[in-house]
Amino acid sequence: VKKKDIIIVGAGLVGSLLALTLARRGHKVRVFERRPDMRKAKISAGRSINLALSERGLRALERVGVDAAVREVALPMKGRVMHDASGELSFQPYGKEGQVINSVSRGALNKLLMDRACAHDDVEFTFHARCTGIDFEQPALEVEDLESGAQTTHRADLVFGADGAFSAVRLAMQMRPRVSYRQDYLAHGYKELTIPPTKEPGEARFALDPGALHIWPRGGDMLIALPNLDGSFTCTLFLPHAGSPSFGELTSPAAVTRFFEERFPDAVPLMPGLVQDFFDNPTGDLLTIRCSPWSVGGRVCASLATRPTPSCPSTARA
Ligand SMILES: Cc1cc2nc3c(=O)[nH]c(=O)nc-3n(C[C@H](O)[C@H](O)[C@H](O)COP(=O)(O)OP(=O)(O)OC[C@H]3O[C@@H](n4cnc5c(N)ncnc54)[C@H](O)[C@@H]3O)c2cc1C
Repeated sequence: VKKKDIIIVGAGLVGSLLALTLARRGHKVRVFERRPDMRKAKISAGRSINLALSERGLRALERVGVDAAVREVALPMKGRVMHDASGELSFQPYGKEGQVINSVSRGALNKLLMDRACAHDDVEFTFHARCTGIDFEQPALEVEDLESGAQTTHRADLVFGADGAFSAVRLAMQMRPRVSYRQDYLAHGYKELTIPPTKEPGEARFALDPGALHIWPRGGDMLIALPNLDGSFTCTLFLPHAGSPSFGELTSPAAVTRFFEERFPDAVPLMPGLVQDFFDNPTGDLLTIRCSPWSVGGRVCASLATRPTPSCPSTARA
């Protein structure tokens, strides 16, 4: 294969995995990422719903030789534990004996993929570097250095947009003729919450069975909890933005406490920081984006991932 000069926009899970994949095939890879380097900066809370990584996902990681390292930081979940409104538990296995899905920290996986990609000589990640435009004919990328404000142009053989829900690459593509685009928001949003480890007696322990994904299904809304290596659980509340019940109604500590005590009574004693987490963490949006075609002239292509997107201004800006 002839060595190509490739630019990737976005160093999320997709961009970092793609960088590693292309580097292993001998290509030169430059990655431009708007955010700071997550291996050095602290990732903000409330944006980290764990990945439920299946065997299929692990096979993709196996192809780039990171599956063993990921298994080390994964917690296998053999099924769902359903928590009904009266606190009764029931178990639903995910598959046959021995089959599991894995709870993995998005941040840990992302950092691992970046480290492995950076270990290749011809891979370069540039942070605080926002894509502001594309020349599809060259192709060439316009990049703004978010620290100095400097604008630079970078030519390449190929450009991959892996810049998420509000992709600048896809936005530029939409301006071209005969590109169809559709963006659908769900009525629901999401909020990250935490069940910390218990501290009795002396040692940190899981407050729930760590071998399962916990679900509190309540018709139009639900709470889920996935285990972390440190003994905590990352919880996510999925709830409509408007109507009743909704995030729109939960505007005071009393309203939040009442809502959780009514709907998830067995979870409340496990969440001592519930009210603080609820108001500290952003309410995220859930949306799906479709775009067709998703490549231009075999030179530039956009990813079509769906993802949870916190509605904070830094994310909503392309
Ligand atoms: C509710 C929900 C739950 C999910 N759960 C799972 C799950 O359990 N398992 C699973 O496998 N998948 C899951 N998914 C899907 C998965 O989350 C996404 O497919 C994945 O996060 C997408 O990764 P990405 O790298 O494409 O995008 P992102 O993670 O959004 O990364 C995009 C990167 O591009 C950067 N960027 C953005 N704009 C620019 C710009 N202009 N210039 C430079 N950089 C830029 C951003 O800063 C970011 O770092 C879930 C999705 C949803 C909606």
